[in-house]
Amino acid sequence: PNEQMEPDPKKKTLVVLGTGWGSVSLLKKLDTENYNVIVVSPRNYFLFTPLLPSCTTGLIEHRSIMEPVRNFLRHKKAVVKFYEAECTKIDADKKVVYITDESEIKGTVNTTEVPFDMLVVGVGAENATFGIPGVREHGLFLKEVGDAQAIRKRIMDCCETATFKDQDPDEVKRLLHMVVVGGGPTGVEFAGELQDFFEGDLKKWIPDIKTNFHVTLVEALPNVLPMFSKQLIDYTERTFKEETITIRTKTMVKRVTEKFIEAESTGPDGKKVVEQIPYGLLVWATGNALRPVVKDLMMSIPAQKDSRRGLAVNEYLVVKGTENIWAVGDCAVANYAPTAQVAAQEGAFLARLFNQMAKTEEIETELKSLSDQQEKAANGGPRDAIFSEIKELQKRLRRVKQMGPFEYSHQGSLAYIGSEKAVADVSWLTGNIASGGTLTYFFWRSAYLSMVFSTRNKVLVITDWIKAKMFGRDTSRE
Ligand code: FAD
Ligand code: NAD
Repeated sequence: PNEQMEPDPKKKTLVVLGTGWGSVSLLKKLDTENYNVIVVSPRNYFLFTPLLPSCTTGLIEHRSIMEPVRNFLRHKKAVVKFYEAECTKIDADKKVVYITDESEIKGTVNTTEVPFDMLVVGVGAENATFGIPGVREHGLFLKEVGDAQAIRKRIMDCCETATFKDQDPDEVKRLLHMVVVGGGPTGVEFAGELQDFFEGDLKKWIPDIKTNFHVTLVEALPNVLPMFSKQLIDYTERTFKEETITIRTKTMVKRVTEKFIEAESTGPDGKKVVEQIPYGLLVWATGNALRPVVKDLMMSIPAQKDSRRGLAVNEYLVVKGTENIWAVGDCAVANYAPTAQVAAQEGAFLARLFNQMAKTEEIETELKSLSDQQEKAANGGPRDAIFSEIKELQKRLRRVKQMGPFEYSHQGSLAYIGSEKAVADVSWLTGNIASGGTLTYFFWRSAYLSMVFSTRNKVLVITDWIKAKMFGRDTSRE
C-alpha cells in the first residue's frame, strides 16, 4: 500500500461517515487511489448485524461478528484515514463536517472539523421509541454490540434473582417474564433465540425456573413479520405457539415503568383494554428513527423539508438539494426497506460511481491537454494523429459515462424463528419461493455464514456454533 500520509492536493477529499453496512460496502469496492479518503465513525469495527440476536444468549460471541475497520483498510491500495469520532454536524454549504471524540479516553483535542469535496452519509439510524415514556430508562435495545451484552447480562441476572432464597412467588413470575416489544424481524429473531436458550440450556442448568420462564412478544399490528408472505406469517405464529412463546398482536405499549409495561389491546369485539404486564427483561425492538445529525442536515436543506423518514436521495443516491453529498443505508430514503441488503448494494453502487467519476475526470483532463496540443500542432500528419487520439478518448469517455442509476435487486427475506427453524421469501429464477422449517434453517445458516465479513469471522462463528452444541451456552454473568 501507498504509505503517503498527507492528503494529495491534486485529489478530491472524500469523507465517509459510518462503518456499517452501507459505508463498508462502499469502502470495500472503492479504488482509494483516486481520492483522499477519510472515514469517520464512533465504531472502529464493522458489525454483522444479522447474527447479533445470537449474541444475546451467548450462542455466538460478539467478537466473532465484529471486524476491525483498520484490518481491511490497511489492505487498500492507497492510505485511508480513520478517525474514531462521531460526526455532530454537517455543513453542506461550507463543505465541512464537525467531529467529536466521544470515547472514554480523550486527548487535549477532542473536537475538530474535517473539510470535504465529496461526502457519503452512512450513519444508520437510532432506535425508535415514539416518545413512549419509560422506554429509554427501562427497556433494552438490540442494535449494537453493547446492547446484546446488556441483554445477555440481564437474562442471567433475572434468572439468578428469581432463584434467590425465599423469593416472593409473584416476583419470581415477574422476573422470569421476558417481554419483547415489536414483532418485526428483530423482535421475532430475538424471541426465538431466547426460547432456544431456555429449552437448550437454561432449564437444564437452573431447573427451578422451569415453570415460570416465559417469553411474550407484543406487536401493535394484527400480525408479526409484516414484510413476509401470509403463509410464512402463519407458519411463524404456529411455530411460536409450539415453542410456547406468547404472541400478543393488536397490543400497543403506551407506557413503561421499572417493573411493568402498560399496553392497550383491542379485543375481538373491537373494545380496547388497558392492562399492566409485569416483566423482568424488556427488549424494545420497534424499528428505526432518525439520528440527530441527519435531522439537523435535513433541516438545513430546503429540498428535504417534506422528507420524514430520512435523507431523500435521487436515483444516483445524491442527497436532494445538494451536489456533493450522497447517502446510503438506513439514513437514506430511496423507497426501499431499511435493510443490510439494501445498504450493501447502495454502498457498492457508490463505489462503482466514484471509480467511474475518477476515470471520467482523468480522461477529460487528457482530452483537454490533447486539444491544446492539437491547436499548436502543425497541419497535416501530427495534427491528424492527435485528432484520431482524441476521437478514441471521446469514445472511451462515452463508454465510461454510461452508468445507469441505482437499481435494487431483492434477493429475498430471511429470518430465524427459533427451534432450528427459519422462514425465507426468496426470489428465484422461476419467481418467488416461500419456505419455512428446518431445511430453511440450514439455508439461513449457510447464507449468513457465507455473508459474514471475513474468513476470520467465518471460522469464529463456526467455532461458536460447535462450542455451544458441545458444551451449551455460557451462563456466567459478566
Ligand atoms: P449501520 O450498519 O447501522 O451503520 C451505521 C454506522 O454509522 C455505524 O458504524 C455507526 O457507528 C456509525 N455512526 C452512527 N452515528 C454516527 C455519527 N454521528 N457520525 C459518524 N458515524 C456514525 N438487515 C438485513 O438485510 N438482513 C438481516 O438479517 C438483518 N438483521 C438485523 C438484525 C438486527 C438485530 C438489526 C438491529 C438489524 C438487522 N438488519 C438486517 C438491518 C441492518 O442491520 C441495517 O439495515 C443496516 O445495518 C443498515 O446499514 P447502515 O450502513 O445504514 O447502518
Ligand atoms: P420493524 O420496523 O420491522 O418492526 C417494528 C414493529 O414494532 C412493527 O411491526 C410495529 O408495528 C411494532 N411497534 C411499534 N410501536 C409499537 C408499540 N408501541 N407497541 C407494540 N408494537 C409496536 O423493526 P425491526 O424488527 O427492528 O427491523 C428494522 C429493520 O431492520 C427492518 O427494515 C427489518 O427488515 C430489518 N431487519 C431485518 C432482519 C432480517 O431480514 N432477518 C432482521 C432484523 C431487522
